Amino acid sequence: MKKVQEELEALREALRKHNYNYYVLDVPTISDYDFDMKLKMLQELEEKYPEFFDPNSPTLRVGGAVTKKFETIVHEHRMYSLDNSYSKDDLLDWEKRIKKLVDGVIEYACELKYDGASISLTYENGELTKAVTRGDGVQGDNVTANVKTIKSVPLKLKGDYPDKFDIRGEIVLPFDGFHKMNEQRIANGEEPYRNPRNTASGSLKLQDSAEVAQRPLECLLYNLAGNNLNIESQFESLEKARNWGFKVPNAAKLATSIDDVLDFVNYWDVKRHELPYETDGVVIKVNNLQQQEELGYTSKAPRWAMAYKFKAEQVSTVLNTITYQVGRTGAITPVANLEPVELAGTTVKRASIHNADQIEKLDIRVGDTVFVEKGGEIIPKIISVDISKRSIDSKPTVYATHCPECDTELIRTEGDAKHYCPNVNGCAPQIIGRIQHYISRKAMDIEGLGGETVALLVNEGLISNYSDLYALTKEKVIPLERMAEKSADNLINGIKQSINIPFERVLYAIGIRYVGETVAKKLAKHYKSIDNLISASQEDLEQVDEIGVKIAESVILFFLDQENVQTINRLKQFGVQLEISHDELKDQTDILKGEIIVVSGVFEKVSRNELKKFIEDNGGKVSSSISSKTSFVVAGDKMGPSKKEKATALNIPLLSESEFLQKINKI
Ligand code: AMP
Ligand code: ZN
Repeated sequence: MKKVQEELEALREALRKHNYNYYVLDVPTISDYDFDMKLKMLQELEEKYPEFFDPNSPTLRVGGAVTKKFETIVHEHRMYSLDNSYSKDDLLDWEKRIKKLVDGVIEYACELKYDGASISLTYENGELTKAVTRGDGVQGDNVTANVKTIKSVPLKLKGDYPDKFDIRGEIVLPFDGFHKMNEQRIANGEEPYRNPRNTASGSLKLQDSAEVAQRPLECLLYNLAGNNLNIESQFESLEKARNWGFKVPNAAKLATSIDDVLDFVNYWDVKRHELPYETDGVVIKVNNLQQQEELGYTSKAPRWAMAYKFKAEQVSTVLNTITYQVGRTGAITPVANLEPVELAGTTVKRASIHNADQIEKLDIRVGDTVFVEKGGEIIPKIISVDISKRSIDSKPTVYATHCPECDTELIRTEGDAKHYCPNVNGCAPQIIGRIQHYISRKAMDIEGLGGETVALLVNEGLISNYSDLYALTKEKVIPLERMAEKSADNLINGIKQSINIPFERVLYAIGIRYVGETVAKKLAKHYKSIDNLISASQEDLEQVDEIGVKIAESVILFFLDQENVQTINRLKQFGVQLEISHDELKDQTDILKGEIIVVSGVFEKVSRNELKKFIEDNGGKVSSSISSKTSFVVAGDKMGPSKKEKATALNIPLLSESEFLQKINKI
C-alpha cells in the first residue's frame, strides 16, 4: 500500500514539474503524448485508490466541479484600485507628493499593466486554498474550482515560501487562444466574444469548471500580501514569487527617476504589440516596502503606486441625439447617442459629455461627426468634433431647460458645473436613486432587496422615501410582479436586520450631498448622534477635521429641509441606529485632544494602522509630515533620517512605542 502511495506522489510530482515547465516557463521537456500518458496513468491510479485523494492533484486541472452560486468571501487584505496618470507632469506631481511623505531615495518598480480579471490567491503551507475575484475590493466571489483549472496557477509551491500569504494577479486570455475560441464559435454559428478581457472575467464565473479548463487562460502575478513575509522590496517579491513557481512576467524594471519611468513607458507603448496578451498601461510602484507602508492608502488606492495608461484608441462617428439623465442627487448628465461604431473591441453607442460647459467648449452639435475615445473601463467620451464635416445648416446645441423626468425647470448655481432638477421629493429617478443608495452594500446593506425592486416599489406607490421601507409588510409586497413568498420574507427580514447597522453607515446612507463614507465616519465620531449633528452650526461643522465649507453647507441645507427631518424622525421610531453605540464609545477618550501626531518607522507591539487608530480613538489627529504644528512623533525602529533631523530642528519630542502606549493607558 505504501508503495502505491509513493507511486502516486511521484507521478503527481512529475506532472506538476512538466506543467510548470510548459505553462510557466514555456519550455516543455516531454512530448504532449508522454504527458497525456502519465496523466492517464495517474487518473487510473487515483480512481483505484480513492483513499489517497489529493485536492491539489494535477488530474483536477481538467475540472468537473460545478458551482451553482459563488460564495462571497471577504478579502483578508483589501484589494485596492490604482490611481491613473496620463502625462509626465502627472508623474512628477505624484513624485512631489510622495517625497513629502517619505524619507530617502525612492526607487520605482515599473511593471506592465495586464488587462484581464484581477484575482487573489491564498496559499497555506504551500497549497492553493482559495481563489477570490476582486469584487468591490472588500469582498469577492470564491472561484477556486475554476481557477484550479488554469495550468499556470501552481497548486503546490516549491522552495522557501511563507506559511500563509495572498498573491494578487490578473487572469488573462492571450490573443491566440481568444482568436481560436472565436473561430470555433463562428464555426458553430455562435456570436464571437467581443474582447479577451471580458471573456477572461466571464470565464471565472462559469458554473462548470470543466468548461473553464477548456479555455486557454493564464494567470500573471504581481503583488504579495501577508504578515511577516520578510521581504523588503516589490522587486524582491516578484523574484521570490517566481521562485515559488508563479508566472511572473519578466518585463519589470527598476527606475530611479521619472525620466527612467518614461523610458520604460515609451519602450512598452510600442513593444506591447508583440506581447501575447493585452496590456493597457504600466504600473509604477515605490519599490521599498517600508516606504510603501509609510505612504499608505487613500480610501481607493495605494499612495505608493500609479498606473500610467497608454494612449487610448480613438474613432470617429456621427452624433445622433443628445439626451439627459437624472441622477439620485438631481444632477443632470447629458448623454451622446452615437451611430454605433467599433472601438477597442466593443460596439459603442453612447458616450458621456459631462455637462453644459463641455458641450459649449467643444461646440458639440447633433449631426456632427465626433471623435470618441475609450480608456479602460470608463464609458467612452467625446473628445473633439470634426468641424470640416459639419453641415451648413447646423445650429449650436441649446441645453435642456427642464427635467426630462418631471419637467421641473432646471437650476444651476454659481461655480457648479452641473444643472440640477430641484424637485427633490417629486422626481422619480431622484426618489428611486436615494433609496437605492440607502440600501446599497456600503450603506445599509439590505439583503433581499435590489435596485429594480426599489424602482418597482416606488412606481407602485408603496414607498416614497427610505423610511417607508420599514413600514412594508409581507402582505403589501406579495402582489408585486415576480415576488414569491420566499423573496417577500427575505425582503422584509433584510429590512428588519438593517436597524443594527452602525450610526456612521446610516449617516452615509441617508444621502447628504458630499457626505461620503469617510466624511460620514468623521462626523459620526465627532458628533456621536444625529441630534447633535442636526443642532450643529455652520461654524461648528467647519471646525471638524477635514470638513470644509462645502460639506458644512450641505449638511446644514439637508437638515433645513423639514421633509428630511421628518424622514429621520421616522427612522428613529423604527429603531435605526442614530447614535454611536456604547461599544464604539468604550475605546474613545480625549487624552490626545488637539494633538497633531506623526507616526514614523517600524513598530514591535502594534501595527502602524493600529497606532493610527489609537490616535484617532483618543481624540488626536494623524499627520503624515512633520511641521512646527506637530505635537510629537511616535518613533519606531528605522525612523527616516530626514524626519528625525526635522523633528530635532523644530524641537519636536519623539516618543517610543511604549511611551506612547503608556500615555494612552494601553500598557
Ligand atoms: P483599475 O482597475 O484601472 O483601477 O486598475 C487597477 C487594476 O489593475 C488592479 O486591480 C489590477 O487588477 C490591475 N493590474 C494589472 N497589472 C497590474 C500590476 N502589474 N500591478 C498592479 N495592478 C495591476
Ligand atoms: Zn426632475
